Amino acid sequence: MIFKFNMYPEDSKEKWFSGKGLWHEVDDKDWNNWSWQLRNRITSLSQLEEYLELTHEEREGCRLAYSKLSMAITPFFFNLIDRKNANCPIRLQVIPRVEEMTTSQEEMLDPVGEDEHSPVAGIVHRYPDRVLFLVTDRCASYCRYCTRSRMVSNAQDYNFHPALEDGLAYIEQNSSIRDVLLSGGDPLLLSDRKLDYLLGRLRKIPHVEFVRIGSRIPVFLPQRITPELSEIFRKHGPVWMSIHVNHPTECTVELKSACEQLAFSGVPLGNQSVLLRGVNDDLMVMKSLVHRLLMMRVRPYYLYQCDLITGSSHLRSDISTGLDIIRGLRGHTTGYAVPQFVIDAPGGGGKVPINPDYVERISENEIVFKNFLGKTYRYPLIGGTIGHVPNIDGIRDKILT
Ligand SMILES: *Cc1c(COP(=O)(O)O)cnc(C)c1O
Ligand code: SF4
Repeated sequence: MIFKFNMYPEDSKEKWFSGKGLWHEVDDKDWNNWSWQLRNRITSLSQLEEYLELTHEEREGCRLAYSKLSMAITPFFFNLIDRKNANCPIRLQVIPRVEEMTTSQEEMLDPVGEDEHSPVAGIVHRYPDRVLFLVTDRCASYCRYCTRSRMVSNAQDYNFHPALEDGLAYIEQNSSIRDVLLSGGDPLLLSDRKLDYLLGRLRKIPHVEFVRIGSRIPVFLPQRITPELSEIFRKHGPVWMSIHVNHPTECTVELKSACEQLAFSGVPLGNQSVLLRGVNDDLMVMKSLVHRLLMMRVRPYYLYQCDLITGSSHLRSDISTGLDIIRGLRGHTTGYAVPQFVIDAPGGGGKVPINPDYVERISENEIVFKNFLGKTYRYPLIGGTIGHVPNIDGIRDKILT
């Protein structure tokens, strides 16, 4: 039997996006320069209307964005929008909509209780052995569902001032911290010099085993991933990185080559997606996304149920949709391609895995479970008594129920 190299019809038909698109007249030198991309971001309603025919909901959303979360879209990312489609999944992620101004009852400004777990400005210390270190409140483009929209872009006058030295001192003084996760905002907006300094300081701390970076810059602004930056990561490694891709269209030739540069500099790559209604709440879309991620050397890490951030209910999808997607991936495609579906517990309980249930029943002497095709299998329980079953994940509680 001959397998074609690319077995997925959606990937053999669709070309991965690349190039200057609407900005075809711009010099390559400018286009490939990350500060040019930042300087030429679309940040106002009038700029946006030059390129795109807006719906009423979007126009109103842009008028109000300044008081919730600013709008910014890099020219590179803007090109990914299908301008003929008002429901384009890229468009839904970055163009403000009036629905963002509606706060449903369960929504919160700080949905995962970060401010309560913050011993010094910029540090969130929820798990004993690792911290989140917020180093900036700015991003290359702004995601309308951002869980940190209370502070990111500073539209709500949160006035976040990253106190890098205070954060470093806190990490130095707490020897239980073995893993530091740089986030923000987007840490890769810091200059090479600052990143080199910060990573150097962190890697000098004896109890810090490695550093991770959470960044959407490879997606919004792949031009930022320069040989100089990659060399900084190589020098201070192990540095791990989680990127944030939600839809296969975001997997561009430019993102792929940024990921290659990072991988070749020794940076293991993961991806975090947020389950978003109309963007990726569909098995075929997610399947195409995770396949493309593996082709870019990126391992799908988490699929997040959308946090209860204010003004996000129009983008929120059901838990059952997330479970159906995981059930549709597990066993049906490469194990590496399957992310862990999680809910970041409202109020600050941390990330909790939510899994489809394959266990049908546990009796006194066997466990009965279904495989990916729904076929039933059995496995004997050693010892044959309830007492021998450890209560891992509440498994013993299922016995004889
Ligand atoms: C997500 C997160 C981490 C990292 O969690 P992992 O499951 O290890 O990736 C650490 N601290 C905080 C506060 C977080 O929100
Ligand atoms: S890149 Fe991350 S921090 Fe920035 S707006 Fe998007 S989700 Fe928020």
